[in-house]
Order: sequence, then C-alpha cells, then structure tokens
Amino acid sequence: MNKDEFINELKKLGISLTQSELNSFETYKNLLQEYNKKFNLTTIIEDESIYLKHFYDSLCLMKVVELKTAKTILDIGTGAGFPGIPLAIINKDKKITLVESNGKKVSFLTFLKEKLNLNNVEIYNSRAEDFAKAHREEYDIATSRAVSHLKIITELEFPTIKVKGLFLPLKSNIEKELEVTKEFIKELDGSLEETITYTLPYENSKRTILKIRKLQETNHLYPRDYSKISKELKNLR
Ligand code: SAM
Repeated sequence: MNKDEFINELKKLGISLTQSELNSFETYKNLLQEYNKKFNLTTIIEDESIYLKHFYDSLCLMKVVELKTAKTILDIGTGAGFPGIPLAIINKDKKITLVESNGKKVSFLTFLKEKLNLNNVEIYNSRAEDFAKAHREEYDIATSRAVSHLKIITELEFPTIKVKGLFLPLKSNIEKELEVTKEFIKELDGSLEETITYTLPYENSKRTILKIRKLQETNHLYPRDYSKISKELKNLR
C-alpha cells in the first residue's frame, strides 16, 4: 500500500487525513526505519508494508463507532507504537496512553512523541500487570495488538477500563483463543458485543477486532500475580 492508496483506503473508513497528519505518518515511517537499523523494533520495515500493516491496520480500530466519542484510550504492549500512535495522530482531542515493558521501544516512543508533537500521548515504561493494579477503572477504551494470548490480555487490561467502557483487542487469528476465553470474559463481567472480521486490502490477510463491554467494576483479585498468569500461559499454548 503506497501513500496514495493509504489515503484512499482511509477515506473508505471515513477518515480524511489533513496534510499535517499525512506528514506525521511519513515522519513516523522514516524514524521507524532509521531506528530499526540500531534497535530491533519491528520486522515490518518496507515503506508499503508500514503503511498497510502498521498504519492502516492500526486505524481499522476506527471501525468501532464508540472510538469517536472516547476521551481516553489505553494501548498495552504498544511496541513501536501500534495501534496507539496512529490513533493519536488522527485524534488529537483524545488522551492516548501507551504501556510498554521494553526500554528501547520506550526510548523510541519518547523521541517520536517529541518529533511529532503529540501532546495527547503519555508513555509508561511498565509491565502491564503492574500498570493495571495502579490504574483501575480509568480508561474509556483499552486495546492491544498482537501482544499475548487473548485470555492473558483480557485479565491484564480489563481492570483498567471504566464501567460501560470497551476492550478492543486486535488480532489476526483469534477464534481458538476466543473459545478458551469466552467464559472468562463473563467471569470478569464482560459482554462480547461484536466480532468484527475483515481482510486487509491488497494482501487479504484476515483480521479481527473484538468489541467487549465491561459491565461491572473488576474484582480486585484481578490481575493475579504474574507468576500465576504466566503459568497459565504455558497451558494455553
Ligand atoms: N502492539 C505492537 C504491534 O502490534 O506492533 C507490538 C506487538 S509485539 C509482538 C508485543 C509487545 O508487547 C512487545 O513490544 C513487548 O515488549 C510488549 N509486552 C509483552 N508483554 C508485556 C507486558 N506484560 N507488559 C508490557 N508490555 C508487554
């Protein structure tokens, strides 16, 4: 997907980029490529792949209408900023919080935030399990792309969401993970409202966004100690 195709595909999602936003995406791409020579931030590094698999893919979250009215969005395990930074570039009125445990990635994000003048972004160099204990019931929406098993990220992100807020995990193959997570979502007083499945343009790979509503305050038992969560992760794989 080249830059023009990116602009056109976003129009189909109802997003019209301003010239300044487009410049920000271009700068982001250049800095990602430059930093990636020194630090291993991402394996997706060609121009066209960055536009498609990082920028466009992240912005597909805008398919969820509630995103338009949300004021606070949390992205856990953001890596080099996906989906959080693309969302921040086109939603300057929203506060976007990024959580990442890898210090080198956090250094890149901090540099990027300054270069792109993203005053709506805040960055935490933290593990999700610690962050979740300290930031309960704070966010309108929590998301993450390609971080861990769905059951694990559900446990780590659910406590951070406000009651009536949404959890929007974004993944490529989610069916099997959803099967083993369905009951747990109910246990956490969540309700799976929608499974949004689509294919990425040009290469047709499948993507899914789950729309999970939080109905009640999360029991303080969650998130459990990471030793317990990681033990479970071994059995899930
Ligand atoms: N979301 C980004 C994307 O889609 O390109 C990055 C995905 S990468 C596969 C997973 C990221 O999650 C890594 O950068 C890793 O350091 C981070 N991560 C994994 N477990 C984490 C945890 N418990 N707390 C915070 N970050 C975590």
